[in-house]
Amino acid sequence: MGDYRGFWVFIEQLQGRVSDVGLELLGKARELADATNTYVGALLLGDFSKAKAKELISYGADKVYLFSHEKLATYHSLAYTKLVCQAVTQEKPEALFIGATPLGANLAPRVAAQLETGLSAHCVDLRLGEDGILEQIVPGFGGTMMAVIICPEKRPQMATVMPGVFPKPEPQDRQGEVISMAVEITEKDLVPRVVEFKAKEQKTVALDGASVVVCGGYGMGSKENWQLLEELARLLGGAVGATRPAVDEGWAPEEVMIGQSGKIVHPKLYIGAGVSGIMHHVVGVQDSEIIVVINKDPNAPFFQVCDFGVVGDATQVLPAFIGKLKERQKRACDFLSIETPQMNEGPYSPDSKGDSQ
Ligand SMILES: Cc1cc2nc3c(=O)[nH]c(=O)nc-3n(C[C@H](O)[C@H](O)[C@H](O)COP(=O)(O)OP(=O)(O)OC[C@H]3O[C@@H](n4cnc5c(N)ncnc54)[C@H](O)[C@@H]3O)c2cc1C
Repeated sequence: MGDYRGFWVFIEQLQGRVSDVGLELLGKARELADATNTYVGALLLGDFSKAKAKELISYGADKVYLFSHEKLATYHSLAYTKLVCQAVTQEKPEALFIGATPLGANLAPRVAAQLETGLSAHCVDLRLGEDGILEQIVPGFGGTMMAVIICPEKRPQMATVMPGVFPKPEPQDRQGEVISMAVEITEKDLVPRVVEFKAKEQKTVALDGASVVVCGGYGMGSKENWQLLEELARLLGGAVGATRPAVDEGWAPEEVMIGQSGKIVHPKLYIGAGVSGIMHHVVGVQDSEIIVVINKDPNAPFFQVCDFGVVGDATQVLPAFIGKLKERQKRACDFLSIETPQMNEGPYSPDSKGDSQ
């Protein structure tokens, strides 16, 4: 075990553009490495120059292991697995972190299986225990508790982490080295190949970076009631998010699922309606500045972590919120003698039943 040193990050790239998740993991690896007096390694595969690879040093890497080859420009399961395993076997890092992205979900288990080590998927935190061993935090047992996972007998310790869990570090003026690694791949390693990339249609306001998120859960009850969330989000200039059961019901697209296996959001205001507050979801919203929860069950776990809670039926409370907002907006527009914006003309006007709740 003593032979293994350094916290490594696999740097994901798509069509030559480094993804933020790799940089976020570099920031966390830097923190862990500083605390244990070791180094940070960045593993970069693609068609990159040394100068481009050097940029990773400013985000916290001490050593960048660069596998550069035109055939690595796009992801190939077998070739990438082979080269990552080769580097790890040769250099012996004590930990390897990979983004919990579709690419990471393909690569990480392959690498862990080949190296015969453990892998904690979808971690929501990485920290050091008292004995200096890496603790990998994952919601467990139906999301009712946080499980602390350690890998006591195998190295490297491997973990995947969703984009957005850790902040992206600011680039700094730092020293480090880029190490060019030999790329030995055969045609056989390139057999499963990416044929084409297609951008997914963006159906909703982007959750990433939204300062207001209005999120609906299974308690919203129907696709029709979902419109209440969309109207409130529009009025607040925010985005709509969903829990997994709401996505499963088809009320919202999968891209807006929030939580451990969805998106991690950091808005100024998060409003959760008909959401129970199971840990799998809460980990995706817990860094919101203000959390407001609407739930008809006063014992819903979400009330324990929120800043403001409304015990009530969301299909009545939301129209009341909407009505009040419209009323305020109308007053402001009247005061400024300007026309009230078009979006005011929804079913939940200040005079509707919602306002009287
Ligand atoms: C490995 C794993 C990963 C997961 N990842 C995620 C994830 O990323 N994101 C995620 O969301 N889930 C995830 N889940 C699922 C998660 O465990 C919960 O099942 C889910 O978050 C619960 O969603 P919910 O709160 O919408 O539904 P429920 O738990 O069914 O809660 C519905 C709530 O609505 C309330 N309610 C009912 N009617 C009304 C009403 N009219 N007005 C107001 N309140 C009402 C109820 O009191 C209840 O509290 C994951 C599960 C596993 C096992």
